[in-house]
Amino acid sequence: GALPTVDQVRALIAAAHDRYAGLSEGVVADYIPALAQADPDLFGLSLAAANGQMVTAGDVDVAFSIQSISKAFVFALLVDDLGRDAVFDAIGVNNTGMPFNSVVAVEMNNGAPMNPMVNAGAIATSGLISGIDGAAKWQRIRDGLSAFAGRALELDDEVYRSEAANNQRNAAIAHLLASYGRLAGDPEDIVDAYTRQCSLSVTANDLAIMGATLADDGINPISGERVVSGQACRDTLAVLASCGMYERSGEWLFEIGLPAKSGVSGGIVSIAPGKGAVGSYSPPLDPAGNSVRGQRACAYLSRVLGLNLFASS
Ligand code: GLN
Repeated sequence: GALPTVDQVRALIAAAHDRYAGLSEGVVADYIPALAQADPDLFGLSLAAANGQMVTAGDVDVAFSIQSISKAFVFALLVDDLGRDAVFDAIGVNNTGMPFNSVVAVEMNNGAPMNPMVNAGAIATSGLISGIDGAAKWQRIRDGLSAFAGRALELDDEVYRSEAANNQRNAAIAHLLASYGRLAGDPEDIVDAYTRQCSLSVTANDLAIMGATLADDGINPISGERVVSGQACRDTLAVLASCGMYERSGEWLFEIGLPAKSGVSGGIVSIAPGKGAVGSYSPPLDPAGNSVRGQRACAYLSRVLGLNLFASS
């Protein structure tokens, strides 16, 4: 079925915000000062329907770094840049069952990154994006993610500099992939493009529109622009279902029944194919790195809006 009426959706988004605004579980990411300073009370929910209608509640215009949520959209771009078969061979689509920045997951898989939603696979993905060097790949990534959002996304310079100064682990992962011949270019150069991609500044509204573009077969419902192919959307949503919420992806799918992607700054994008997407922002995280309020609000909305993909009605 379709979404309920706009008035009903508005009441349910407001109710979701009310229900979970007071929830105080979770811890704000503290691996860099720029994230540690985030206000834990911020909470925004934005729904973009595939017809372009937007319904919002709370802090939906507050900017934050996109972090791991970028992985979903860069992967979609790569499916079109390289072709799905080549991407499937180079990156893989199975969950690691391990934390997002695991080195062990790479070692245990003979140097192959497993999937594009953990750091190893995302770094390999960014390396394969069209462009002769890291700078050209970064430009393609920024332009592509901006097309998903329907506006020119800016780099959060403070987050970028702080990430770049604390990037030893991602550099190690990139060098490890390179040692197995699994990285298409210079490791430092590619990690820089990946770090910039994670530092792009977005809002909950942007996430909703970006997600709705995946829900709408690659056409941005606001700008009307075709951003990626329908095939790239289907492939991306399949990978999000199995890997988008890190090692909690199975629990998320069991509970919520939607492809989604989270990031350590507290954003989540949840996609209802053909219907639209919810972008949420709330910085406190659970131990896997997923926003606590965002997860609860999405579970509620999936239920009351009838979004679960496995429900027959
Ligand atoms: N910049 C972070 C990293 O690469 C993003 C991780 C995340 O959002 N889970 O470690």
